[in-house]
Amino acid sequence: MNLDLSDKTALITGGTRGIGRSMVETLAQAGARVAFTYRSSAEEAESLKAELESQGYECLSFQSDVADFAAAEKTVKDVLDAWGKIDVLVNNAGITKDGLMIRMTEGDWDAVIGTNLKGVFNFSKAVYRPMMKQRSGKIINISSVVGVMGNPGQANYAASKAGIIGFSKSLAKELGSRGVTVNVVAPGYVATDMTAALSEKAQEAMLGAVPLGRPASPQDVANAVLFLSSSYSDYVTGHVLHVDGGLAM
Ligand code: NDP
Repeated sequence: MNLDLSDKTALITGGTRGIGRSMVETLAQAGARVAFTYRSSAEEAESLKAELESQGYECLSFQSDVADFAAAEKTVKDVLDAWGKIDVLVNNAGITKDGLMIRMTEGDWDAVIGTNLKGVFNFSKAVYRPMMKQRSGKIINISSVVGVMGNPGQANYAASKAGIIGFSKSLAKELGSRGVTVNVVAPGYVATDMTAALSEKAQEAMLGAVPLGRPASPQDVANAVLFLSSSYSDYVTGHVLHVDGGLAM
């Protein structure tokens, strides 16, 4: 029983930047072979892969849009062909297209639901059978405090993140008897490119409501993912782990 992930393989969606990048580095440092995906940031992917390999870690990267069902299936197959199994899947890739409902377009809705929610379905579906067969596996889905509390201007994002919670609990019930756990991490305000895009006023308002008085670092979230990837969490499933400095109590 420990946080050592030697002999484990992990697949992380959206691994090139922000929280995903920190997860890739953290799970690799814990001993896992880590595959990660991205949609467009090929340069960052290349440099992350090179950085990990220079430190002696095994790593694969895939340009693969999570919203694309066939691409998810192919990515999972490629990882299985290379490494034979996937022990940990982290559905991390996510986007925002914010705006009050009055201005939110159908395109804004479809893009956010397609990436954030359907993306989780796509990759979970692709690992479902292999994890069932191996009678082990850990699926970790990245939701958000916004999926729990709601947020004006983020109806599409909140719906996608709340959907992830219901989806994960259902899957946890389906897969429990096969030794596969499914959990959710719900970060609060994390300092990444995603939140840098918010207005200063919105950032201050969010921070003001955080009991711990600071934003999360990507590492704070990666630490929770490490716990849920490890044998320390073997009896935890269907759980929503808030990593939000107390924001959503
Ligand atoms: P970033 O915007 O910093 O990074 C997003 C990552 O996801 C990038 O690697 C990006 O790759 C990838 N990505 C985006 N869309 C796709 C896609 N369609 N297919 C594959 N990869 C994709 O985001 P964060 O690190 O801030 O967020 C990570 C997750 O955490 C998201 O699900 C987000 O909703 C959630 N979260 C973030 C919070 C925050 O405060 N930052 C708070 C709560 C939850 P590329 O550059 O190639 O597009």
